[in-house]
Amino acid sequence: MTASPTPTDAPPLPWTCPFCALLCDGVALARGETLELRGSDCPKARQALAQQPADTAAATPTIDGRAASLDEALDAAARLLAGATLPLFAGLATDVAGIRSLYALASARDAILDHLLGDAIMASVRPLQDRGVYYTTLAEVRTRADLIVCFGTRPAERYPEFFRRIAPGEPRRREIVFVGTDTDPAAAGPDTELEAVPFAGDAFDTLALLNALAADRALAAPPPGPLAGLAARLQAARYAVIVWEPGASGAQGALVGEAINRLVGTLNARTRAASLALGGSQGGYTANQVVTWLSGLPLRTGLFRDGLRHDPWALATARVLAGRNADLLLWVSSFDPSATPPAADLPTIILGHAAMPPVAGAPQVFIPVATPGIGAAGHLFRLDGGVVVPLVQARDDGLPTVAAIAGAIAQRLAAPASGAGS
Ligand code: SF4
Repeated sequence: MTASPTPTDAPPLPWTCPFCALLCDGVALARGETLELRGSDCPKARQALAQQPADTAAATPTIDGRAASLDEALDAAARLLAGATLPLFAGLATDVAGIRSLYALASARDAILDHLLGDAIMASVRPLQDRGVYYTTLAEVRTRADLIVCFGTRPAERYPEFFRRIAPGEPRRREIVFVGTDTDPAAAGPDTELEAVPFAGDAFDTLALLNALAADRALAAPPPGPLAGLAARLQAARYAVIVWEPGASGAQGALVGEAINRLVGTLNARTRAASLALGGSQGGYTANQVVTWLSGLPLRTGLFRDGLRHDPWALATARVLAGRNADLLLWVSSFDPSATPPAADLPTIILGHAAMPPVAGAPQVFIPVATPGIGAAGHLFRLDGGVVVPLVQARDDGLPTVAAIAGAIAQRLAAPASGAGS
């Protein structure tokens, strides 16, 4: 598996970055010995590019730590799956084609599906299931929002290009308010006013007060001045957007999302408002969208012989493993080599990033796979929900895709003569 050399004098490749759910386009890759970002100094993308091995020749499949051919690894993976009663398909950090192929593999047997960012994904799915959400897109925020409230998050810390992506193209006055954090200089821009408003108690107390103020309800005690001022500006804004981050909202993040959507609903009675949940990196929203459209249910769904069951609590990876409720772990991680499988005393199949370090422990099959947007073209869902973004192949590193590997394992399982059942 050796990367095909790209001429060093080749012009930079127009590229879409797959390394967080912003999926920035309008950037380019210079392709020599290493891959170098052009058009952005995003530290997250630069680090991810630096982790791509220049030569994937050393990234060979292994069986219990010993080098194996791809066919041997596929046979071994098929044998492990054929012998499992209830496998857990987790990680699921792949693209649309990868998750489709994994779903087909899971459908042929009982299996549980969860993503490595499943806690955060469930915190944004729950409010949607309960009462629906007022959502928006990056383009709408860029072109229309005059008041942006970052609630309990400094978005650029995990989404470095966030403020560039929502910067208006023309001079336009707007305010960006950080509630519960300091202001972030990354948000500064012409005609942009930054302000920090402290929490009044915790996130829940603060949202309860904002909800009461936005609905003009009488309060038993006067609210803190900055919060009352923010509520008045939310009511007066032409288009307010409340940005939050389910993954940074604690164990009860879904309740933060519920309260934010209640606030947005109240504001929409008089003006225009929306929420924007930051999350879904490493193919998280992609896995959730694809599983939802294929099964009708989001992640943390079990495909069982007697039907589908969605349980965001019991079917979380950590709980399934702690309760020994699966007898095989299939771990998929194609974007980040540090996203290794959780410790589990179970036979494990890893479809992993080529630079993933060896994982000690249970018997396992490791198959290195291409990163979508680096070694393979593909598609991912962006963090604003319904936007599917195509990814180009940056170089041919000779690594197979997750979709190809899952398909090859499924073929072996469908043909017992290959030895999968022996
Ligand atoms: S913000 Fe995210 S998508 Fe954009 S360049 Fe950085 S890592 Fe890539």
